[in-house]
Amino acid sequence: SSSSLSLLLVRACRSDWGWAGHGATALGMGQFLHRGCIIRGGEVQETLAKIRRIAFDKTGTLTKGATSLIKIENDDASQEEVLQRAASLEQHSEHALAHGIISAARERNLRLTNPKRVQAFPGSGILGYVEGDLVAVGRGEWIREQGLNLPSTLSERLLNYENSGQTAVCVGWSGKVNGLLLLDDLLLPEARATVQALRSLKLQTLLLTGDLPAVAQRIAESAGIEEWQAGFSPEEKSNFLAQWSKRNGCVAMVGDGLNDGPVLASAEVGIAVGTATDLARETADLVLPKGGLNLLPWVITLARAVRRTILTNLLWAFGYNVVAITLAVFGLLQPILAAGLMAGSSLLVVFNSLRLEQFTDQAVDFTP
Ligand code: ADP
Ligand code: MG
Repeated sequence: SSSSLSLLLVRACRSDWGWAGHGATALGMGQFLHRGCIIRGGEVQETLAKIRRIAFDKTGTLTKGATSLIKIENDDASQEEVLQRAASLEQHSEHALAHGIISAARERNLRLTNPKRVQAFPGSGILGYVEGDLVAVGRGEWIREQGLNLPSTLSERLLNYENSGQTAVCVGWSGKVNGLLLLDDLLLPEARATVQALRSLKLQTLLLTGDLPAVAQRIAESAGIEEWQAGFSPEEKSNFLAQWSKRNGCVAMVGDGLNDGPVLASAEVGIAVGTATDLARETADLVLPKGGLNLLPWVITLARAVRRTILTNLLWAFGYNVVAITLAVFGLLQPILAAGLMAGSSLLVVFNSLRLEQFTDQAVDFTP
């Protein structure tokens, strides 16, 4: 009868449309898992496919984050004293610079002590008591805001380092800065090729960092990133992203999640890389495996393929069912033929989705 036929058609349409979306999405998620990526829900893939711009944090994201100490400048205190106090304090920090400072102290067999009442200032530095003195380690501008005086010998050198794009942090206590630590934070070997591949996927690239303009410029240039913003606090990074996406569309933020968890959360897609911190895992929409920066172009390409598959599926299912309904309306469709068409349309959608399975080995490997 015609009423049971139309009921069948409605049901067929529904099942095709369900398959069109869920099937492709599930297969995409499987591919992400296969590569060790944790993705928070199917709709993240859809947003990923739509992004127009990708912003990067610097330290620990584009750079190794495993900094090494190159030089110590001192004033009044000894070099050992400067390093020992800074390293003692940094034991309570997860920042990339902290690791470099601590391992330099260990190499020199300095005995680290346990700091008290430690306070971290994301994007600026760290403050706490080491052997009874309030010690501050951080960037120059912030340390002056803490009321520490920067002697002219050190301020001249700091300016030189800053202008040449090198990372120097101040170490101060008892009202003044007593030393500078010059640290080297190398660009990841795969950073440049990754950025290049992303740009060829028609994405605009941007560097957002709390570091100094000269450093930002040096890193952006060597990574091939088009634009940069320096001296941003995590809050300013969030605001910048919100502004940009309001005007220009979807934006993704890639960070190590160490002090930029809220920044990751404020982007349409927050991508955490090179980290295992709980905060990053909670706030990021996508967590790449450690050392997985070079997966980014693959991630975008896969998300776009999933989206394309869903769209063609919908188109097929729609066309197929419209034809069937039209035929049925004009009484040209035998019930048995109608059933066959419906099954055929579902199968088509499923097979089109399954093509995504072949996506596995198109991974992008840029490690030289
Ligand atoms: P990025 O945005 O590049 O990840 P951050 O926002 O983490 O950089 O930090 C910006 C700057 O603040 C660093 O370059 C450093 O000078 C200073 N800083 C932040 N945290 C610390 C810390 N724990 N020890 C020393 N310096 C720090
Ligand atoms: Mg960072």
